[in-house]
Amino acid sequence: MQPYIVGLTGGIGSGKTAASQWFEQQGIIVVDADIVARQMVQAGQPALAKIRATFGAWVLLDNGELNRAALREYIFSHADAKKQLEAITHPLIRAEIETQLQRANSPYVILVSPLLFETQQNRLTQRNLLIDTPEELQLQRASQRDQQAVSQIQSIIAAQMPRHQKQALADDIVLNDADLAHLYAQLQPLHTHYLQLARLKPLS
Ligand code: ATP
Repeated sequence: MQPYIVGLTGGIGSGKTAASQWFEQQGIIVVDADIVARQMVQAGQPALAKIRATFGAWVLLDNGELNRAALREYIFSHADAKKQLEAITHPLIRAEIETQLQRANSPYVILVSPLLFETQQNRLTQRNLLIDTPEELQLQRASQRDQQAVSQIQSIIAAQMPRHQKQALADDIVLNDADLAHLYAQLQPLHTHYLQLARLKPLS
């Protein structure tokens, strides 16, 4: 039977991981699009062979792994390269996400993805939850977590879908602007609701 799938998204440092870990503690299986994307370009994976064939041997490190830094820099200065790369990786990522979602055997399943709306992964979901966080908190939390420069995080936020657009696309919005207890307290009623929806709407 098709599982009931809830998409979970938010910008950098918004609290997606914190929220997904809470759902996991409630026994809900979480499929993480970022983890799948990383697995897809591991040494020996077909996606990596295609990337090498498209861009050249320089995309690989000596140990056969993807040279992420070099590819990131190349994409920055070559407008078409990002599209070429996505044309290779996105279908493979989507197929693996679908496999993992189908395999999930919890009452409902969560697909967590920073690009849920941008890459149309929301076509796979029945409902979408946005972890919505004011930009100054995103900057503060992400820079503390990653030791990354604030300016670097600012440019990532600028490249992501604006908050108001995500708000318009989401069915549920959690404002993550206080402590973790406040976040979890907002997730609890949503979890109850999703359990109910999953029971009411079994999909064939
Ligand atoms: P990314 O897209 O960059 O992976 P994310 O959306 O998964 O980020 P998290 O890693 O969950 O975000 O949160 C960013 C940091 O902020 C983490 O260190 C997390 O523990 C912390 N954090 C999240 N929510 C809160 C909160 N309500 N109070 C305090 N710290 C928080």
